[in-house]
Amino acid sequence: MKKRLLLAPSLGCCDLFKIEEQVRFLDEHADFLHMDIKDGNYVKTFGIGPDFLAYIKTVVKKPMDAHLMVKKPQDFLESCAQAGASYITPHTDCIESDAFVTIHKIKSLGCKAGIALNPASSLEAIRYYLPMLDKVTIMIVDAGYAGQKVIPYMYDKIRTLVQWREDMGLQFLIEADGSMNKDVYKPLYEAGTDMVVLGPPALWNKNKDIRTAWDIMLEEVGQSINNI
Ligand code: MG
Repeated sequence: MKKRLLLAPSLGCCDLFKIEEQVRFLDEHADFLHMDIKDGNYVKTFGIGPDFLAYIKTVVKKPMDAHLMVKKPQDFLESCAQAGASYITPHTDCIESDAFVTIHKIKSLGCKAGIALNPASSLEAIRYYLPMLDKVTIMIVDAGYAGQKVIPYMYDKIRTLVQWREDMGLQFLIEADGSMNKDVYKPLYEAGTDMVVLGPPALWNKNKDIRTAWDIMLEEVGQSINNI
């Protein structure tokens, strides 16, 4: 059976003047709610924080994924878990020296464990803890900066990861994140991506009204991969 591409809008991109309407709409229609948490250090920009998740957690039903673009993710695990994150996703280069401790900690807090890899990070970096992961996020541009072009070599990275997942008999989700747009749904899907993170070029820039923007995005995904 054909697999549906899962959709994870990045809630930090919501229009601040319409935030309640957009959060409620996206929660109803998306598969996951993606949360970019940045510290101005690991990446030189800022995003939403655990307070944002805590504020909306009693309203939203879909799993919230805390994508930690922070230098010391270990300092944020408890606050993200308490704020209602279902998944916590640090970057591989920030947990290199204590990867197993960090992943065990995420699980002990009752959350699912993800890992994110910047384009220059090798898949080898995560090979030994892949069996512990629930999700792998492949950054298809450098984390934290808007307006970059998608790096086509990342399709190969995803294909390799799909092969490893099969060879190792694992079940983790494979997510693609960064500069998502209509031109890349097809190659990402064909490479084996399970889920895409939607930012302004994929969703919010399509229309000021989130309902119309969502319909346009769905049509673009549908035309690209016959999504069902
Ligand atoms: Mg992200």
